[in-house]
Amino acid sequence: MVHEGLKKVLNGVVAAAQEANRAPESVTLIAVSKTFDGPEIVPVIEAGQRVFGENRVQEAKGKWPALKMAWPDVELHLIGPLQSNKTAEAVQLFDAIHTVDRPKIAGEIAKEMRKQGKPLKLFVQVNTGREPQKAGIDPAEADAFLRECRDAHGLEIAGLMCIPPAEEDPKPHFELLAEIARRNGLSQLSMGMSGDYPAAIACGATHVRVGSAIFGTRG
Ligand SMILES: *Cc1c(COP(=O)(O)O)cnc(C)c1O
Repeated sequence: MVHEGLKKVLNGVVAAAQEANRAPESVTLIAVSKTFDGPEIVPVIEAGQRVFGENRVQEAKGKWPALKMAWPDVELHLIGPLQSNKTAEAVQLFDAIHTVDRPKIAGEIAKEMRKQGKPLKLFVQVNTGREPQKAGIDPAEADAFLRECRDAHGLEIAGLMCIPPAEEDPKPHFELLAEIARRNGLSQLSMGMSGDYPAAIACGATHVRVGSAIFGTRG
């Protein structure tokens, strides 16, 4: 079955990868299904998409257990801020967390992954624009925080994630994230959304998080 929004974005990912002389398979498309329910999500799964993103634990808990029962090979990524009292639920429901951004949550995630015997793929969120209202570690503190995740909590961090300021050219932010990843020996970059995923892929994104370009405008 074909889903027009998904097809358009998959073609866009392939085109951007080729433009950057990268293998299209080196980019994972995360379909961001926040605010959408089963009837809108199922056609995207049926069209072959298997990696999805949600920004709220509570909302994901309401719709994904049933969908995962029907499609056990679906991979679910948490891309929104995590409160420590939701850590156990998040580790149970999700396969990856993109928003590790402070020592307390790193410790909680480490503890829950051990307890549940479930290792998740983890990204540290970096607040590349240093926006006070936005989550993420300050770029100047990223190296130390990554060391702390490894040495104090035994966490294996796969890569970095950022959300550039809405009104700025995202490219310098993507480049900064790539540079921090490079000097810390991290291979994965979660960056790029509906409006800027081709630019993110040009800067080395391995995971793009695309919602409205697939599902349509959120209500
Ligand atoms: C909603 C969201 C996205 C997707 O945004 P679109 O502009 O709809 O593609 C990506 N990343 C995060 C963290 C989000 O919350």
